[in-house]
Amino acid sequence: PIEPWHIGGPVIKGFGRGSKVLGIPTANLSTESFLNLLSEYPSGVYFGWAGVSKRGIYKMVMSIGWNPYFNNPEKTIEPWLLHEFEDDFYGEELRLVVVGYIRPEANFPSLESLVAKIYEDRRIAESALELPIYSKYKDDPYLKSLL
Ligand code: ADP
Ligand code: MG
Repeated sequence: PIEPWHIGGPVIKGFGRGSKVLGIPTANLSTESFLNLLSEYPSGVYFGWAGVSKRGIYKMVMSIGWNPYFNNPEKTIEPWLLHEFEDDFYGEELRLVVVGYIRPEANFPSLESLVAKIYEDRRIAESALELPIYSKYKDDPYLKSLL
């Protein structure tokens, strides 16, 4: 287990690829305020808990990095919240407690293999977050104070 870390801010527009190309929406955060922090953590896939404004607290699996498959010019922070939302929440306050690391960032030979890996990451995150060592962070004051 890693020492949990906290990041948050308003949900910004990304490249619009999550839902449209992959069927996997990711709520992007601005990296600007976290450049120092991000330099301490390897790019890759993380999991934890996400609070969205007054909506609730949800499991999340998150990519941090350059998304080699898409050749992004900038590092992005993109959590996929493991919950079905009725609508988008651009501009709303998003807070993350990051509790675990799954794997380093990787490139993939095809979109299918990328999507399959993301679903595998999701399963890992889903079950890990049921473990008491990770589930307890759902009650983190950083998330609770949003509700
Ligand atoms: P963008 O490139 O602008 O981030 P995406 O295709 O990744 O676009 O879609 C992300 C947006 O979809 C989020 O900003 C949020 O408003 C909305 N959204 C709906 N459901 C989810 C979800 N389960 N997880 C993350 N974002 C979601
Ligand atoms: Mg996104």
